[in-house]
Amino acid sequence: MNLHEYQGKDILAQFGVAVQRGQVATTPEEAVAAAKALTESTGTSWHVIKAQIHAGGRGKGGGVKLAKSLEEVQSISDTILGMQLVTPQTSAEGKTVHQVLVAEDVYYPGASEPQEYYMSVLLNRTTGRNMIMYSTEGGMDIETVAEETPHLIFTEEIDPGTGLLPFQARKIAFNLGLSGAAFKSMTKFVSALYKAYVGADASLFEINPVLKTSDDRIIAVDAKVTLDDNALFRHPDFEALRDLKEENPVEVEAKAVGLNYVDLDGNVGCMVNGAGLAMATMDLIKQSGGSPANFLDVGGTADAARVETAFRLILKDPKVKAILVNIFGGIVRCDRVAQGIVDAYKNLGDAIKVPIIVRLQGTNADIAKTLIDSSGLNVLSATAFEEAAQKVQEVFK
Ligand code: GDP
Ligand code: MN
Repeated sequence: MNLHEYQGKDILAQFGVAVQRGQVATTPEEAVAAAKALTESTGTSWHVIKAQIHAGGRGKGGGVKLAKSLEEVQSISDTILGMQLVTPQTSAEGKTVHQVLVAEDVYYPGASEPQEYYMSVLLNRTTGRNMIMYSTEGGMDIETVAEETPHLIFTEEIDPGTGLLPFQARKIAFNLGLSGAAFKSMTKFVSALYKAYVGADASLFEINPVLKTSDDRIIAVDAKVTLDDNALFRHPDFEALRDLKEENPVEVEAKAVGLNYVDLDGNVGCMVNGAGLAMATMDLIKQSGGSPANFLDVGGTADAARVETAFRLILKDPKVKAILVNIFGGIVRCDRVAQGIVDAYKNLGDAIKVPIIVRLQGTNADIAKTLIDSSGLNVLSATAFEEAAQKVQEVFK
């Protein structure tokens, strides 16, 4: 589950990580009130207005702006709220901004120049250990840094038995070129950040930039936080942080009825039982010259009602030009699924305008094939994987 910047910063602050302070707002009036409150509590006179969407690169897209007066807080919030924000990380149509974070300006002038660093905590799947990735090249695209100057990205792996050791936090501060008060602040920052990552059961923390202010404070200016869905049961309070507006509506609907659905860009809708078979089916579609429009695992209990719901979901996607049903009848009987398809087809009648290719294999596959072939519907049956692939190919001829 992905969080908004302001939610991520709240979690960081709870674990003692120093963050750029701010308050979320949904209207320009709320933004002005938030700015006034921040001025009172922090003494800041300038504010940054930051669009809250589940995508990075907001600065580049015009979603992060500095306001030097309350009038500017009002006018900038008015522009950003409701805008369709396009960033290098969103689709071409962008994302609608429903909230802004009004934050204190932390790039104020002082004894030294503010300095931006990059830091993330994530799982290294090869070693099975958490690691901290960091770089002096913060604020910008870390992907570009990784490509052009990979030697400027450091990693520090953490032994799960001992957790982050003090010398590791010092090594990070040292490699970032810090000394004096900033060095100390950085070691504190790193330890707290790692505690937060473990404590929140996160799967990604990406803080870009981590800022050294002109008076040597180290703070998180941005926060991209992904929580581990499999650990959410340990944090019932996190459920309230889910923003359904940010999630694909068809995926939300599928989840509500217990179907595993992921929206993709292609033109062949897939309905499959089992995640492994779903992956193989997507490969098959690619090899046949099509491209999968979705990943859909209807699960082990593919009865008529589920099959119909699955069809309805797939048909919501206007890009779908054909549907491939690929079911292996292990526990589930193929004739039951075939009946489900025939019933669903009859119920959905007018909604189905694309050819359906059905491949049923396993228990009672022969009965299933007869059922489909004699139904008189625009459904092509197949028993072999290759045969199904060939029929998909014919659709695109
Ligand atoms: P992103 O573009 O989505 O990664 O959003 P960030 O939160 O990283 O902000 C983008 C950029 O806005 C940062 O790299 C900073 O350069 C700038 N920025 C963020 N906070 C402040 C601030 O308090 N003052 C000023 N002047 N600039 C800021
Ligand atoms: Mn950022």
